Amino acid sequence: MDYISTRGSAPALDFAGATLAGLASDGGLYVPRMWPRFSADEIAAMAGLPYAELAARIMQPFVGDSLTPERLLELTRAAYGRFAHAAVTPLKQLDEQNWLLELFHGPTLAFKDVALQLLGLLFEEFLGRGSDNLTIVGATSGDTGSAAIDAVAGRAKVDIFMLHPHGRVSDVQRRQMTTVLAPNVHNIAVTDATFDDAQAMVKRMFNDEGMTGRFAIGAVNSINWARLMAQVVYYFAAGLQLGAPHRPVAFAVPTGNFGDVFAGYVAAQMGLPVARLIVATNVNDILHRALTSGDYSAGTVTPTAAPSMDIQVSSNFERLLFDLNGRDGTALAAQMATFEATRAMQLTNAQREGAAALFSSARADADQMSQAIRWAWEASGELLDPHTAIGLHAARSAGLPRDVPVVTLATAHPAKFRDAVERATGHRPSLPARIGDLFEREERMIELPGDYAAIAGYVAAHAVPRAG
Ligand SMILES: *Cc1c(COP(=O)(O)O)cnc(C)c1O
Repeated sequence: MDYISTRGSAPALDFAGATLAGLASDGGLYVPRMWPRFSADEIAAMAGLPYAELAARIMQPFVGDSLTPERLLELTRAAYGRFAHAAVTPLKQLDEQNWLLELFHGPTLAFKDVALQLLGLLFEEFLGRGSDNLTIVGATSGDTGSAAIDAVAGRAKVDIFMLHPHGRVSDVQRRQMTTVLAPNVHNIAVTDATFDDAQAMVKRMFNDEGMTGRFAIGAVNSINWARLMAQVVYYFAAGLQLGAPHRPVAFAVPTGNFGDVFAGYVAAQMGLPVARLIVATNVNDILHRALTSGDYSAGTVTPTAAPSMDIQVSSNFERLLFDLNGRDGTALAAQMATFEATRAMQLTNAQREGAAALFSSARADADQMSQAIRWAWEASGELLDPHTAIGLHAARSAGLPRDVPVVTLATAHPAKFRDAVERATGHRPSLPARIGDLFEREERMIELPGDYAAIAGYVAAHAVPRAG
């Protein structure tokens, strides 16, 4: 399988190349040249496989010649062996129609571990074949940073520079990043910046030839295709348990950068019967507006109790727009140039109609989020984190026929956002044992202003240049 850029002019790469590259050199995102497709019989034959085996089966067509099937299975076993639940992503029933897919049993308590634990191993595997060190530069609204740092801390030939908006991540999230003292981990708290500001600086670094010429810069944000690939697996895992390939299932997905829900779109292209993908947003609702009116225009970010969804620019939406517009990279490059210049663009008719066929959306404000937390607590004794609660709100307001199971993706452990959960239920979730003495450990980070030159200068002073 090779990978092409959504903006049409970067060179095609194989899976290993796309994994190490992150963003394409033309500013686009890598996507597989075509979607592999499983027949109904092939999907039926996957029922009951252990998670790591299912993962290797789903990912093999994307990985192609970059890994042998045996090696891929070794890596999925190693990645998912660190999860605290034997099913890796267990499914829980809430009522007759609603289910929760618990994606938070990894080391840092959010769904991002599912992809990043594997990505850390893929980096090590592919870097071992060449001479360059990899300089990972990322921006986080909280969960990506801790999951990525856990996945690469102490690994050979990788440095990670993680930017977070100062004071805008939860205490648990910050400590999960800043208490990792491995010398290859560099936490940067960007003062006076939102997540979008930090992400824009990371994007700029990927397009800065002064930096990319000297350093091999890689991405752990969901612009990295390998992350999305790993997330496709749990859509299949849930679908198979609820009757796929014979029964369609809907998914409600707490959405920020559109990575997780795009993985659901990929699962549908691969043959999984998906009744609907419900994009759940908080009041930062650019995606809800784009999907309901075709108007994709960024406002300003409002901080909420679900910070991983406090996003106005959803990078992975570009992958969907590319697919729905006949995969015309030239046209998409022009559309994205308009967006980058004006922070607004209109979807084409093909994009609107294509999206409406599979996606719907809902927006939850702070009250609706708290009500969803209380409903789950009273109906089934489950404590939900704010992101998951927004997903559940969207699931319950989607109005799907009663015989369609609706799976809400539980993207974070409630203990990661204890204050919001306690406010809604009067119940304070306890930190799972695997988090240990997080609040006693020493923290290390540097504060830098939200200024590109300062950040690029810091990275350049601490990263390992390319070998040749
Ligand atoms: C990252 C994150 C999201 C948003 O996922 P995207 O792939 O960016 O859409 C939702 N909930 C939690 C808890 C997250 O960490």
